[in-house]
Amino acid sequence: MQSGEREVSTRQEGFLLHVRELVTPQQFNTWFRNIELEEADSGNVRLLVPNHFVRDWISNYYVDILAQAVRRCFGEDRELALAVNPDAPPPPQLEPEPMPIQAPLNGTPAPKREVSVFGDTALHENYTFENFVVGTSNRFAQAAAIAVADSPGRSYNPFFLHGSVGLGKTHLLQAICHQILTRRPDTNILYLSCESFINQFIAAIENNDLSSFRQRYRNVDVILVDDIHLLANKERTQEEFFHTFNTLYNLGRQIVLSSDAPPKDIPTLQERLVSRFKMGLVVEVAPPDFETRVSILKNKARLREQELSDEVAQFLAEHVATNIRELEGAVVRLIGYASLVEQPLSLEVAREAMQDGSQTRSTAITIHDIVSAVTRYYNVKLSDLQSKRRNQSIAYPRQICMFLAREHTNLSLEEIGGYFGGRDHTTVIYATDKIQKVVDRDPNAADVIRHLTHEIRG
Ligand code: ADP
Ligand code: MG
Repeated sequence: MQSGEREVSTRQEGFLLHVRELVTPQQFNTWFRNIELEEADSGNVRLLVPNHFVRDWISNYYVDILAQAVRRCFGEDRELALAVNPDAPPPPQLEPEPMPIQAPLNGTPAPKREVSVFGDTALHENYTFENFVVGTSNRFAQAAAIAVADSPGRSYNPFFLHGSVGLGKTHLLQAICHQILTRRPDTNILYLSCESFINQFIAAIENNDLSSFRQRYRNVDVILVDDIHLLANKERTQEEFFHTFNTLYNLGRQIVLSSDAPPKDIPTLQERLVSRFKMGLVVEVAPPDFETRVSILKNKARLREQELSDEVAQFLAEHVATNIRELEGAVVRLIGYASLVEQPLSLEVAREAMQDGSQTRSTAITIHDIVSAVTRYYNVKLSDLQSKRRNQSIAYPRQICMFLAREHTNLSLEEIGGYFGGRDHTTVIYATDKIQKVVDRDPNAADVIRHLTHEIRG
């Protein structure tokens, strides 16, 4: 028996090693790490996966990989079945931690359930799954969001969605809310921006009212906090959020977070929060490719009861940067322009509308556009740029960012300095002057700036 068992476990390890060779480490960790392999007497192979979502996802996207790994592992093709593992362990409990600021809410009666609780942000009625256009860049994020909405607290907890601005994070978070509220209207949902969490926390401290603050946050079934990267540099709020997180997590409540960067790149985020944010599923939404941009444009026009021809949609998709908010802006501009000149939405009108737009550039360049081009080019991380580090490999790209931000955005010196790790305005002036001098002197440097500018303009 013992040797049989050993054989099974080496088979299992061998199989996983083959899978590991066929996918990226991230794919492996997300989908395959917890797979168990079972061999029937008939020689068929059954793979046990932790939940339905993983099963569906794998059977949609990784069947070929699995078949290949089976072939390599057994030296021949085997019939393959996927099943949910009945023994899959529930998510681990977190160690309870003492409350730092004030005694916990012992003895307070549980409040009456409310139909739904929202932060001070109302839900946008168009931010639903139906209106979310899916492409390669966001398919994984959308599927995971649906899984979370279908079984809150049980698919992925926490669900951490990150990506740069205007790519649909808020839309997906709110779509989760809509879906849950439609299916189970009695769910207690709290959707709020990280900013309101911070503000309410500060107000609670000022009013000496922490216990009702905590009560409010800790009695929800689902909490969605948008733009959690704003916790950067907010030490006490991080502390408080950590306890909110633990309480809700241990009660099996669903936690959904969005951020402009993955957990480890949020500046000054406490290590224990980083590790908690990574515990469930971390997914990135990437900029949409051309085909997705075309369908988003058509979809946005349809929401405004207009149809875009293929020709017009493709023209816009080619000329507008990849940010979806800007795609939407282009549709609005085209429709507005067409009605102004009382013309149909033709290619010619689209050209005119876009030309018109380039004078009063409504697709404004953001600091995110700049940072994303510079970090890609120099292969540095946003967190490095925002850190205190001053070695040349970090300081130089940071100075380039400041220079480009001065050139292309309306941000003040203070705002730019603040963004890059709370530096003051003299640092920004120094950086801008320095890069200007380098560019004047060195044609290669000037080329780099031109290249980056081109990238930033999209
Ligand atoms: P983020 O929160 O990532 O900055 P938002 O969710 O606010 O971005 O999205 C910006 C705009 O783009 C919103 O109007 C949203 O409805 C729209 N949008 C984003 N992604 C999609 C998508 N895949 N399909 C349709 N609209 C989208
Ligand atoms: Mg958002």
